[in-house]
Amino acid sequence: MTKEEAIKKIDFSELEKQTTLDVEHSLLPTMKKLEEENKLISKTLQRMEEERAMLRELFNNANTELSNLRKPSLLVADVVSVIDDSKAIIKLPNGNRFYCYISKNTEKLQSGDSVFVDQKTLNVVEKINLSNNLEAEKYVIIEKPRESWKEIGGLKDEIREIKEVIELPLNKPELFEKVGIQPPKGILLHGPPGTGKTLLAKAVACSTNATFIQVVGSELVQKFIGEGAKLVKDIFILARQKAPAIIFIDEIDALAATRMDTGTSGEREVNRTFMQLLSEVDGFKHLDNVKLIGATNRLDILDPAITRPGRLDRLIKIGLPCVEGRLEILKVHTRRMNLQKVNLKKLALKMEDFSGAEIRAVCTEAGFFAIRENRDHVTQEDFLMATEKIGIEGEEDSGIQLFG
Ligand code: ATP
Repeated sequence: MTKEEAIKKIDFSELEKQTTLDVEHSLLPTMKKLEEENKLISKTLQRMEEERAMLRELFNNANTELSNLRKPSLLVADVVSVIDDSKAIIKLPNGNRFYCYISKNTEKLQSGDSVFVDQKTLNVVEKINLSNNLEAEKYVIIEKPRESWKEIGGLKDEIREIKEVIELPLNKPELFEKVGIQPPKGILLHGPPGTGKTLLAKAVACSTNATFIQVVGSELVQKFIGEGAKLVKDIFILARQKAPAIIFIDEIDALAATRMDTGTSGEREVNRTFMQLLSEVDGFKHLDNVKLIGATNRLDILDPAITRPGRLDRLIKIGLPCVEGRLEILKVHTRRMNLQKVNLKKLALKMEDFSGAEIRAVCTEAGFFAIRENRDHVTQEDFLMATEKIGIEGEEDSGIQLFG
């Protein structure tokens, strides 16, 4: 290459460089704009993809909901008897019985199980798992009570007896096995209203750390045939699941009143429920960690079948408190009250024939008298006025009961 050619080449390459720089310079804003647009488009794309995923999920949900709504619902029935692995006799809630087929995928059935059946063919589709069957839980109150023995005034002998027959077998069953005696399966507390029967049952559940399952006798009597009996059965299953447990049946007389053969369907249903209760009591063992406590204000009308040996054979009378008992109850309920010159002994003497519930009501009422007068302490006078008020109300109530 000659010198001139070399100079020319250098000049050209510099010119080329310059031109490229110029072009790049002029294109810079456009490139920047395009880059920004690109960013914007990819953001929009991402957003639209997210939206698409969300809409797809909504669509899928709506689709499943729609297909669920289109499915025919299943009937709930009880198995009366199992013929073999593929056939059983079932009973519908209206009492009709059917001989039907059991679907292959169904768990092994036993008589008494609850099952789902197809509406048209009445064939068994699925067994209902009892732990999911909350029917009984609707009718009972299940709790771990916090009421301790200290919150009960008086009733020393009664508490000792309950401790012996309920607390001891639950806490130390081996003691009974060693001695070779059988503790009662349950007890029956009887006496006037408001004397602390529920309180005692809760306190024993608390001291044994047992689950307290409370049910009212009248609630067990159901409208539909066989439902009450099923409910009783479910309550005992529930108690076994939650053991140690105490089943407390308040107003047990609603269920266990002496049977009269008048033959109405309602009475037959009460009888059926009662018979189920008896067979459940017979069915559990003396040292099982489920105990039954019944309570009633009407021992006189109770069917002796419930108090037969081996059932609720320990009867404990919870009567109206004597003067010492009333003083103890007053001490319990005034423990947290701000008292000034109050003589509880004198008050206890004045409260002749008052139940524990009435004594508690007197304490609350006395507190209200103090509040009404803008005082932060309660005086003897407040208690006297409250005693009079509750006494009059009590008399009126018993008058209503007499003439009502
Ligand atoms: P019912 O027969 O009407 O069901 P009950 O005998 O079960 O009544 P409880 O519900 O246990 O009576 O008592 C009501 C309330 O009265 C209790 O919550 C408690 O505050 C008070 N009470 C009753 N007896 C006593 C007692 N001995 N010591 C302390 N409080 C008592």
